[in-house]
Amino acid sequence: GGRPRIFSAMQPTNDSLHLGNYIGALTQWVALQDSHDALYCVVDLHALTVNPDPARLRDRTRRTAAQYLAAGVDPARSTLFVQSHVHEHSELAWLLGCQTGFGEASRMTQFKDKSAKRGAEGTTVGLFTYPVLMAADILLYDTALVPVGEDQRQHLELARDLAERMNSRFGDGTCVVPEPHIMAAGARIQDLQDPARKMSKEDGNKGAVFLLDDPKRAAKNIKAAVTDDGTEIRYDPATKPGVANLLTMLSVLTSTPVADLERAYEGKMYGHLKVDLAEAVVELLTPLQRVANEYLDDPAELDRVLAAGADRARELGAATLDRIRDRMGL
Ligand code: ADP
Repeated sequence: GGRPRIFSAMQPTNDSLHLGNYIGALTQWVALQDSHDALYCVVDLHALTVNPDPARLRDRTRRTAAQYLAAGVDPARSTLFVQSHVHEHSELAWLLGCQTGFGEASRMTQFKDKSAKRGAEGTTVGLFTYPVLMAADILLYDTALVPVGEDQRQHLELARDLAERMNSRFGDGTCVVPEPHIMAAGARIQDLQDPARKMSKEDGNKGAVFLLDDPKRAAKNIKAAVTDDGTEIRYDPATKPGVANLLTMLSVLTSTPVADLERAYEGKMYGHLKVDLAEAVVELLTPLQRVANEYLDDPAELDRVLAAGADRARELGAATLDRIRDRMGL
């Protein structure tokens, strides 16, 4: 009984999250935490797929957690924790891996893209089984709903397939089948320099607006965004992907429907839209960075929050894992 369970997570693969993470996921996380029993996780095991330097990984894990808090995740209402603090994630991943077809895993487009970029030498088994670990993250908490951006839809579909397969092999009620929760607007924020690709937190990406960027630099990045040759400010992702992207961001950040923005910018120039978006971003970043820095300057408090979160997550996860192990004959 009680509130429906939700689980969502981000990888600590950069010092800072970006505006795509914020708009596509974090805004939903914050909005859902009263109506749902929410678990928000920093998935450091997933970040191992990029082979990070250990000290850097540890630092980025803390920074990611601090940004969740700064964005409005409230540890009094939601469970905030680090994936590697709860060993049950790894164990369930093995159990699910033994239920996942090789062909099925080979069809994941994110794996195909990333392995193509990294080449055979740079592609690990961990990168290949990443979606199985993600399924474990979700199924470990009997999650009902997963708020994510559009890019995670296929991975979520795998988690659903695995849950259904577990139920048919080991009996109803072995796993809860999760539903995706993907927003209609803002589920896919594009790169500012290359609006054909999604904004992502790869190092040194100039087309991203990072939440911990100097607000002046963030404003400059937005003003330098690539737009098309026309002049009209219209929401048309097919022919005007850059402008559509700017409109989407401004719409979410100011809670104004895109149609209202289109009307307001009739007869105005791209520069006007960029100036207003830059201002909205500075207004978001300034207070957010203040709170993030408070947590980063007080590591003991941050550790306390994360330890309390891990305790609760472990309790829930251990119960689910016991049930699944038992059904599987372990
Ligand atoms: P990244 O791809 O930047 O490394 P993650 O894989 O850690 O981000 O994803 C964290 C969350 O942010 C997921 O819910 C994902 O769907 C969402 N997300 C990532 N990039 C974007 C984007 N460009 N637009 C909207 N949501 C995004």
